[in-house]
Amino acid sequence: MRLDLLKQILAVPTCSRQEDRMVAYIMEHVRQRGAARGWEITTDAWNNVFVRKGGNGILPCVAAHIDTVHLPRPVEIVQQDGIVFGVDEKGRRCGIGADDKAGVFVCLELLERFDQIAVALFAAEEIGCVGADHAPAAWFDDVGCVIEWDCPGRGLVSYTSSGTRLFANNGEFIQAAAPVLQAHGLTRWQHHPFTDVMALRGRFDFSCLNLSCGYYNWHRPDEFVVLAEVEAALKAGEALIAALGCRSYPFKAGAEESAAPMYEITGLQVECPQPVASGSQAIEDDIVAGMARPVTQAAETRPN
Ligand SMILES: [Zn+2]
Repeated sequence: MRLDLLKQILAVPTCSRQEDRMVAYIMEHVRQRGAARGWEITTDAWNNVFVRKGGNGILPCVAAHIDTVHLPRPVEIVQQDGIVFGVDEKGRRCGIGADDKAGVFVCLELLERFDQIAVALFAAEEIGCVGADHAPAAWFDDVGCVIEWDCPGRGLVSYTSSGTRLFANNGEFIQAAAPVLQAHGLTRWQHHPFTDVMALRGRFDFSCLNLSCGYYNWHRPDEFVVLAEVEAALKAGEALIAALGCRSYPFKAGAEESAAPMYEITGLQVECPQPVASGSQAIEDDIVAGMARPVTQAAETRPN
């Protein structure tokens, strides 16, 4: 994977309702990579960014959100022993918005690796999926399913998002996806708080997933990314998109599911491979006033 690209994305300042610099970064990146190859990129009034590549039929869509809870400010991206974190101008640890820039990175990498794929990058997720709620419906007309990367850590799959069912148990979608998830260690099915696919499931008749992409301590100044886990997310994504292909996987908008889960649902627990070792005085400085407050990295977590 392109480590430089990941670090560049992590360094772009962005927060809810102030995503302009991230939008500009992605527009320029896609223009450079795909302008001559027919990649189509659009934005909307909400700062959502949409990319489409190849094909006139159904496309698989990958997704992430481009806002963070951290105040937009300069940050140095530091790599140490396979982990990447942020340091501010005073030398203190600060959040890098890897929630969900790690997901954005996975999506931009997958865009390179498939000839027929769609990418949806949503604004203002952290303040209630505002971008996903208002994204233009017509853009999703030929989307077969949506795979989002906005779970922390590794191996997590959202069984529900804020109580919303993302796919039908034993439907064709999960039957196609499950062997890939299993093979790539994505085996911890959990009930998670909201993210963009929750909003999409309320509006559209397609199946969705939400998966881990390697970030830890989200919404905190000691946030970090495990590079090997971002790479694992990317490999799983590649296999998943290949398995799902350009097919429609219908699941009626807002549909519930009464069939028993295919898997044990493990609840909300995220293992942390690195002890928290940064000054917490920076927490209040680091979080955008009036937005999500820092959470305790214990049983009560908010993985998006
Ligand atoms: Zn998130």
